Amino acid sequence: MEYFLTEQQKLIKSLARRVAEERILPVRAELDEEEEFPWAAIKDMANADLFRIFIPEQYEGLGEGCFALCLAVEELSRACAGVALCYAADALGTIPILLYGNEQQKQKYLPAIASGTKLTAFALTESGAGSDASAIRTNAARQGEEYVINGTKQFITNGGEAEIYTVIALTDPTKGSRGASAFLVDKGTPGFTFGKKEKKMGIRASATRELVFHNCRVPRENVLGREGLGFVITMKTLDGSRAGVGALAVGLAQGALETAVAYARQRQQFGHPISAIQAVQHMLADMAMNLEAARALVYATAKTIDSGAKNFTEEGAMAKVFASDMAMRVTTDAVQILGGAGYMKDYPVEKMMRDAKINQIYEGTNQVLRNVIALELLRRKGLRE
Ligand SMILES: Cc1cc2nc3c(=O)[nH]c(=O)nc-3n(C[C@H](O)[C@H](O)[C@H](O)COP(=O)(O)OP(=O)(O)OC[C@H]3O[C@@H](n4cnc5c(N)ncnc54)[C@H](O)[C@@H]3O)c2cc1C
Repeated sequence: MEYFLTEQQKLIKSLARRVAEERILPVRAELDEEEEFPWAAIKDMANADLFRIFIPEQYEGLGEGCFALCLAVEELSRACAGVALCYAADALGTIPILLYGNEQQKQKYLPAIASGTKLTAFALTESGAGSDASAIRTNAARQGEEYVINGTKQFITNGGEAEIYTVIALTDPTKGSRGASAFLVDKGTPGFTFGKKEKKMGIRASATRELVFHNCRVPRENVLGREGLGFVITMKTLDGSRAGVGALAVGLAQGALETAVAYARQRQQFGHPISAIQAVQHMLADMAMNLEAARALVYATAKTIDSGAKNFTEEGAMAKVFASDMAMRVTTDAVQILGGAGYMKDYPVEKMMRDAKINQIYEGTNQVLRNVIALELLRRKGLRE
């Protein structure tokens, strides 16, 4: 399918592919096995200016936006979804600063993020607050010109490795959805430590960790937007990042499809390659069709975001749900096409299948996002253009 990329977008895609093929692909099995955070690959991405893509030019970025970011995420994920997630989660952690940071906060953080020297993370989830974000208990009590944060965040991607954290905490528990605020908290702030590091089914190169706040004091100037905007910032951030999860799923499925096609061409059974068997051909055709449909939806969503549209909740949810469900099916079918070999670690598809699952869970489970899509659909009067 031709997506008519600009010269700059083509360049970004080829830079990301080079890093992915030369620096990530050779070590992906080891990173997965050892559950090792891919610092060397992060440095390679930084050297290729991949962290600059979606940062505005005045903060030392390339000002390219969400679509170009998705192209890079897709290429990285084609090689390793775990490594790609470290990169995509950095975008998730940066979106709140881009959307709600004041000039001083942007000047302080964005150039370092653009250079790739500082990673970011976004911290909402707690043990009692997953799909129901309103159940968070982490609180931030105002004391003069400071806030004192107490509580524990769970399952935070890039936790422990990132330097900059957007943390959602209650500033007024009596105010319901207007009672939360978003804080920028730097690694190393007294009272901010890291707890349990999760051992995961897939995306094992990425770090998933608890953040522990015990009387952690942050200055008032670290509030994003203003007090009470925590849940608005959360929703807008997730709306903006779900196309990236879709791109991650598309890249993962692309890697699985390519592996399945190559294997089907060379694997001989009954005196001919299994690619001559129509049942296998139909599986490959379905994989390719669904993959391309997901890619088109992800790209269209990213372009909608880049257009400056005000509301893209529905598009973001659709892209994330459709692409992640597709990636789960395509990676599972890739394992099936490789037969017993697909189940072994000698081939990458078993890792891809394990890596695919999380995309149906985080950034809003696919059930919760189906609720969101239906709500948007039913709320609208009349048909959409
Ligand atoms: C590897 C990993 C990385 C993560 N990274 C981050 C991160 O960087 N930052 C962060 O803040 N969080 C992060 N999360 C948390 C993630 O967003 C949550 O796990 C997710 O939102 C689901 O919450 P939960 O696990 O508590 O599941 P629950 O909310 O307990 O859901 C359990 C089941 O119930 C279903 N369910 C719940 N409510 C509804 C409903 N209303 N309608 C239909 N079905 C429903 C769910 O779909 C699911 O199947 C991460 C999680 C993982 C596993």
